[in-house]
Order: sequence, then structure tokens, then C-alpha cells
Amino acid sequence: MPVDNKPAHWSEQGLRYLKGVGPKVAEKLQKLGLKTQRDLLFHLPLRYEDRTFVSPLGSLQAGQRGQIEAEVLHAGIHFRRQGRSRRMLVAKLADNTGVITVRLFYFNANQQKQFEKGNWLRCYGEVRSALGELEMIHPETEVIDIDDPPPLPQTLTPVYPTTEGLHQISMKRVLRQVIEKLKTDGIAETLPQEWLDSNGFPDITSAMIDLHLPGSRQDSDLIAHNRHPAQYRFIVEELAAHRLALLERRREIRSRKTPAINANGGLSRKLKLALPFALTGAQLRVLTELTADFAAAKPMIRLVQGDVGSGKTVVAALACLPVIESGYQAALMAPTEILAEQHYQNFALWLEPLGVGVVNLVGADKGRKRALKLSMIASGEAQVVIGTHALFQASVEFNRLGFIIFDEQHRFGVDQRLALQRKTRDDEMPHQLIMTATPIPRTMAMSIYADLDYSQIDELPPGRKPVTTSIVSEQQRDSLIQRVARSCREGGQVYWVCTLIEESEALQCEAAELTYESLCRQLPQLSVGLVHGRMKPAQKEAIVAAFKNGDTHILVATTVIEVGVDVPNANIMIIENPERLGLAQIHQLRGRVGRGARESFCILLVRNSLSELARKRLEIIRSTQDGFTIAEKDLEIRGAGEVLGTRQTGDMSFRIADLMRDQKWFAQVEDLAELMQRPEYAAVRVELLRNWIGDRQDYTDVG
Ligand code: ADP
Ligand code: MG
Repeated sequence: MPVDNKPAHWSEQGLRYLKGVGPKVAEKLQKLGLKTQRDLLFHLPLRYEDRTFVSPLGSLQAGQRGQIEAEVLHAGIHFRRQGRSRRMLVAKLADNTGVITVRLFYFNANQQKQFEKGNWLRCYGEVRSALGELEMIHPETEVIDIDDPPPLPQTLTPVYPTTEGLHQISMKRVLRQVIEKLKTDGIAETLPQEWLDSNGFPDITSAMIDLHLPGSRQDSDLIAHNRHPAQYRFIVEELAAHRLALLERRREIRSRKTPAINANGGLSRKLKLALPFALTGAQLRVLTELTADFAAAKPMIRLVQGDVGSGKTVVAALACLPVIESGYQAALMAPTEILAEQHYQNFALWLEPLGVGVVNLVGADKGRKRALKLSMIASGEAQVVIGTHALFQASVEFNRLGFIIFDEQHRFGVDQRLALQRKTRDDEMPHQLIMTATPIPRTMAMSIYADLDYSQIDELPPGRKPVTTSIVSEQQRDSLIQRVARSCREGGQVYWVCTLIEESEALQCEAAELTYESLCRQLPQLSVGLVHGRMKPAQKEAIVAAFKNGDTHILVATTVIEVGVDVPNANIMIIENPERLGLAQIHQLRGRVGRGARESFCILLVRNSLSELARKRLEIIRSTQDGFTIAEKDLEIRGAGEVLGTRQTGDMSFRIADLMRDQKWFAQVEDLAELMQRPEYAAVRVELLRNWIGDRQDYTDVG
């Protein structure tokens, strides 16, 4: 197969040269980021379907995709009372092992004709169970002659990512044309030959053909199990492309002009002396790393990971001081208003005695109050500014912003980064510090955060008590309430967290309100507070403050208190319906207790109808308090996207790679990325990024 060193000409052509691509289809394809024929080649199958065999109806199981051959017993049009299209075609099909119902919600005359009584049909679709009977909704259907059925495919059938209004069939028709050209002409190799040879990976053309058109049964089997060398090659290639893009972004950021931090450390020394505790070894080590970043005269971009309660806040406060001493302002961005308020209180307590001006700015600040704060920020009187993303509104003008800290946020979107640029003077890139409690496996961190430096606070302050975690059934609710009452009489305090699935904030608040009311009724001698997302910020603040002061015994809350809230006297955390939360989130919540001298408990209040899997997950939480172990299991169960947050994985969507599944390749990925950074590969590198990252500006466009 001839493979040129220069890009093959045909692959650069636009899509309108292909049959079946008019303006409408071209627009849909463009939506998927597909503009040239080469783009199409890199549009790899999402998954594959095995249509190489027919299942007898009697062997079908709900929840699987299956292919059947069956006779139409009868079919008819039913009318539904609701829905956009009110007609529904319902057919009963049978073979000699069983029966199945097929339903079509929209259909034309031709399709209706397929379902004539006595016809034999070959259908492919998802099998579901409805009221104990099997059914298929909208299967792909073809009428066959049962005595002489058309041959079955011998290999897997690829399924492509597509978009609304663009059928799989049209997608395949278009792809078939470029794959034909690929077979005759090939395309230019994107990876260094020496590297392919030494790792035993196939060349690009044959790898691509294998994935678009799985050849043999053996290839199909390997592909179905994600073990085909062609898959390996593209997985490593894609991950390496992302890594290179991140490294490029890092280089770009690091080449910017940045605030010069020349401090004598006087303020830091003063604060350390004033603190009621000594910093842990890990906190000191991370502070040394931050100081070294400042001294390097390049923009800092560092991620600090530290488990819940490891003391990230005080590290952040100390990190601001050299910046302030050098005449710059620092900003701290928190994910919620409650957390911003708490940070403000801590920072004010620690920094104001040193003569440092601290201001907090949240979305709810209005009118004169807001104007006053804005003017303090603009004049530089506010040396540390704490807030939510309200900080990045256009109306907020800093005098000289030099340092930004993002708390409990893995990443921040492009728009925020852009906004951040507008806040600085003289086109300077501010130093950036990102703090997170979510531990991710180190190898994965290296890959996702290739553009960031990475520090870890891997030590908790001394004297932390382990939290005893138990799973308690809803039936024991009354005795649990008595236990809570006893603990409160002994001086303890309790968080009672209500959760609801479906992300409906309104419902979640309602659940919290109901629990609040019933607790008030059952425990009249105790003081109960309620905080949820739909309250006014001032109201939330007052309620959290009352809990902090010990004026309330029990704080009923939604997950708004998930991150960061710090009340050392609280010693019981009750979480209702914990199975609805991610493990990392439960771990965060549990981290709210065990901070003071009292023996602490976390109680997972569950319904009896818990699934086996849900029980297993909660068992993980019960059995360990190690954030790393929990995060790793959580990643296994839910996948990287959900655990690390959509914002981040929005930046990192992969076509073929899967961060969890493909960890075994990370060493090769690093190797390849390293190799590709050599000057002789500059041109190939551009090609590689174009193929895999394309127009996704997020990576390269820093603003
Ligand atoms: P997180 O890392 O979860 O953000 P925080 O910064 O909220 O943790 O710290 C948790 C608690 O530990 C706070 O009350 C804080 O004042 C306290 N703390 C921080 N560092 C130390 C330390 N070295 N010794 C004792 N307590 C500490
Ligand atoms: Mg925190």
C-alpha cells in the first residue's frame, strides 16, 4: 500500500465532493467537526454491533441488543392518548422458540407494509422487557425469505457517532466512499516509524482500515474486546495528542510575562507565629514549592491536591502574602457562596491583623454595598478578594491582579480563563493555583494535568479522630433521632444532609424542609437549623453562622454544604439516601466531622430496597477513610467524566481512548509525547494535533 510522506491530496478535500453530501448533510457533518475527508477517516466507530448471528427468541434477554428472525403473527395500529405522534404500530412476532412485541412510534407506509401478517422479518435492536414480555422498539427491520435468507455479515458492524437528523445509514454511506479511497491510496503516517516499530504498532492506513472495516472474525473478536493493535495504536496516539496539546498550552502560558514576586517573607513569618497550630510537614513542603514557583519568574500553574481536612485553606492564605508584599492583589474563587463566606471569615481572621485588606464579593452583593466593594477592588485597597465566579464579571476591575486561587475546582473553563486575562494589567499572566480534594491516581493526574505542576498535601493535621461510619436502615430512623438527641445534650452537633436524585434543586430543598419540620416536631428541646440552595445568601450565612457558634444543635441541609464547611465541634454526619451520591461526594460530606475532640460518626441512612451494587459502593465508604482508595473505586464504577467533573472532561472528550480503561498505556503515551516534541517532528506534531484536537480551541487558545 503506497504511503506518501506528504499528506495525500484527496484527504484534504471538502465533503461536498462525496456522493450524498448536499448542503444539509454537510452542515450536520460540520456540527460533528467534520470538514475534510481526512476528518471523516478520523471519525472512528463509537462501538460495534455483532450481527453475525441470529438469536432464537427464546434465548433473548432484556437489556441486550439482539438480532432475530421471526414471522409476523399480527400487527395493528394503536392510538395513544398522549404524545406528539399518536399512532403506534404494534406487531407480534414469533419463531418456534418464543414471541416478541415490536413497536414503532413513527412509520411510513413502506414500513407498515413490512409488518404484514405472514412476513418473515430480520430485526436488530435493543431487547426490553415490559410487564414480563419481551419487546423491541424501532428495530432495524428487513423482510426476508425464510427459506433463503440473505447472508449474515461475517464481521462486526461499526456504529458511528452521529448527530440529530443524520442517520447512521447516511453516515455509513459517506464513510464508505472515503474508506474506499483509503484502501487504494492510503494516507500519510502521523507517528514516527521508529516508535511504531519498537512498540509493534500498525501503520496508520492499515490500522484505520481495520477499525472502519473489521476484516476477519479474529479481528472482530479483538476489536470487540478492545484488544486490537489498531485500537492500541489510536488510543496511544489520541492520548499523546491531548498530552502534547496540554504541554503546548503550558509552554504558551509559561512564556507570558508575569508579576514579579519579590517578597521578604515578613508577613508569612508573622502569620505562622500567630496561627494556633503548627503547620504540618506536608503544608510546609507545598508552601516551599509555591515559593519556588514565584521565584522562577514564570506564571505559576499548579494543582494542589489534599484530602478533605488536610488544611488547604491556610496554605492558600500563606501563598497570598508574598504576592501582596510585592504590591499585587490576590483573588480566591470558591464554588459556592457558603464557602466563599467561610473563606472570607478565615482570611479576615488571619490576614487583617497583619494589615492586609480582605474583601468578599458574591453575586448577591447589590447597590451601594457592591459599589463600595468594587471601588476597593479597583483601588487596590482590597488586597485579597474572595468570591464566587462573580469575581469574573466584567464590572469587576482589579487594580493589579497577580495571583488567582481556585478552590475545590479541578479546572476552569476557557471563558473563565479569558475573563481572567482581562483582569490583569500590562498583559501579565497571573499566577494560578488550583486546590482540590478529589484525589486521582497519580498516573492519571499526569495525563489529565500535563499542563499543570502537581503538589500534594499527603498528611492530615495531628489529632484527627477516625470517623466511625455505619449503614443504618430507614426503619431505625426513630432510634437514630434519639441517639442524635443524646449526643446533642452532651454538647455535640449534627449535620443532617438530604439528597435527591434528578438534580432537581426544588425537590431537594423540599425534602430538606420536610426533614427539618419533622425533626423540629420530634426534638422540641433542641434547636434545629435549615439551609438549602434556594435561600438568600444572607439567610444562608446567618444559619451557618448560628451552627458555627453552637447556637443550633442540628443543621439540616442539602448538599450545598458538601465542600469545605468547617465546624470542628460537629461530630455526627447523617446522610439520607447516600446511594444517590458519588463516593467522592460522600467522602467530602463525611470530612465535615472528625475535626474536633469528640468521637465522630457518619451515618448512611438507607432504604431497604437498596440494590446490590449500591450496597457494595456504600460498603467501600464504610470500610475506608482513605480518599485515594475511594476515588479509585469511584472512578472504576462511574468513569472519569463524572468523578472529575464535566467541566473538565468537557475539555477532555476522547474519541477512542478511555482514561480509566487505558491507564496501562500511559507510559507509552508519555514516551511518544516526549519523542514528538523533538524539533524534527514539528510538522508531524501539527498534523497529529489537527487530527485529534482539531478546532477544539480550548487547548491552544489561552486568550
Ligand atoms: P481542606 O483541606 O479540606 O480545605 P481546611 O483548610 O478547611 O481543610 O482545614 C480543616 C481544618 O484544619 C481547619 O479548621 C483548619 O484551621 C485546620 N488546620 C489546618 N492546618 C492545620 C494544622 N497544621 N494543624 C491543625 N489544624 C489545622
Ligand atoms: Mg477546603
